[in-house]
Amino acid sequence: MDTGKLTRNILIGMIAGGALGVMLHMLALPEENVFRAVVVDGLFDIVGKVFIVSLKLLVVPLVFVSLVCGASNLSTSAGMGRIASKTIGLYLVTTAIAISLALSVAVLVSPGEGFDMGAEETVEFVPKAQPSLKDTILNIFPSNPFKAMVEANMLQVIVFALLVGVALTRCGQAGERTQKMFMDWNEVIMQMVIMLMKVAPYGVFCLLAVLFSKLGWEKIAHLGYYFVTVTVVLVLHLMLTYGLLIRLLAGLSPVQFIQRMLPVLAYAFSTSSSNATMPVTLETVRDRVGVKNEVASFTVPLGATINMDGTAIMQGVATVFIAQVYGIDIGMTGYLMVVLAATLASIGTAGVPGVGTITLALILEQVGLPVEGIALILGVDRLLDMMRTAVNVTGDGTVSTVVARSEGQFDRSIFDGESRQAPSAREEPSAV
Ligand code: ASP
Repeated sequence: MDTGKLTRNILIGMIAGGALGVMLHMLALPEENVFRAVVVDGLFDIVGKVFIVSLKLLVVPLVFVSLVCGASNLSTSAGMGRIASKTIGLYLVTTAIAISLALSVAVLVSPGEGFDMGAEETVEFVPKAQPSLKDTILNIFPSNPFKAMVEANMLQVIVFALLVGVALTRCGQAGERTQKMFMDWNEVIMQMVIMLMKVAPYGVFCLLAVLFSKLGWEKIAHLGYYFVTVTVVLVLHLMLTYGLLIRLLAGLSPVQFIQRMLPVLAYAFSTSSSNATMPVTLETVRDRVGVKNEVASFTVPLGATINMDGTAIMQGVATVFIAQVYGIDIGMTGYLMVVLAATLASIGTAGVPGVGTITLALILEQVGLPVEGIALILGVDRLLDMMRTAVNVTGDGTVSTVVARSEGQFDRSIFDGESRQAPSAREEPSAV
């Protein structure tokens, strides 16, 4: 697969779909219009939805199989514990940086000052009940692996895959035979990802055409200040935090890194879901960036589940915005509480569209702000969700790369575009 051409085609699909959607929105065709009914709400919607379910279809088998392979290779070299602690540590630190950056910029520019609440129609926002910290911890451990897979409970699938991977290395020939079978399955599933990526430009085109034709652009003007603040912080975090991590800790060029990650950003933007993007993230991080499967198979699924820097940024700006609109000062302790709550909330948040606004309710409650305030920002949340998801997955790629570099599990020739990770090389026991 010529990945350069594919990336270009995905971007063309995105831009063309987005432009068509915006045009359709401006035309405001009535529902019974044949083009709108048959092509946009019919054909495009079906193709887009089939594309998303096909991505989701691959998530559970891909995570399970590639992580069993990764863990079985790593547990022989006793590197698993070290990789796990580095990864979780970096995910938490980057999220804390993201939310702190968001709070600082928002306090500086005051997006909520002078906001006219009257002009905003108030959609009623009903917060969902949040599980307690104790339940969140208990929920990581599966009692039934099939139930975990059926419900796509990623943390539970990860725990089960790690156990299987470690056990494989401890049962001699039976383990070796089973490990070979998993390695073969890994190739089969990766082939499915590659097949799906080939049709991605069409899927992305349809998704964006439908989405943008329905987007409430009018709200952006009213919520412009809030919208721009979130966007600026997202870009800052992408360039500064990830750029510095890639430059200083991984010793690589940030520009080249983003170029390599472009397909992932495009998928995340189009699907608004870190989970649905995960097959592409894993493929890209391994075959375009150069992270070995031993690290990527653990860091990527975990990141899609617990690492949401873009979401934390939206939550930081939204908290300040809502506090200012309602004229409530939450003070320094309030802000510190927000940093803590948002960092922890991202762990229990699944990477699906719109979930960030649900966890925002938890954060607002923590600092005593009115949860109904969320209704004010819902109008522009769809577009922001697309952008913040792109940042979320870039964060997963960044941490994977940094961890892989520090563990000697990185293939520089792949990053430099000189080779691709050979199937047999993916799963060979590491030399570390
Ligand atoms: N859509 C985001 C993701 O999947 C989560 C959110 O911010 O709502 O990463």
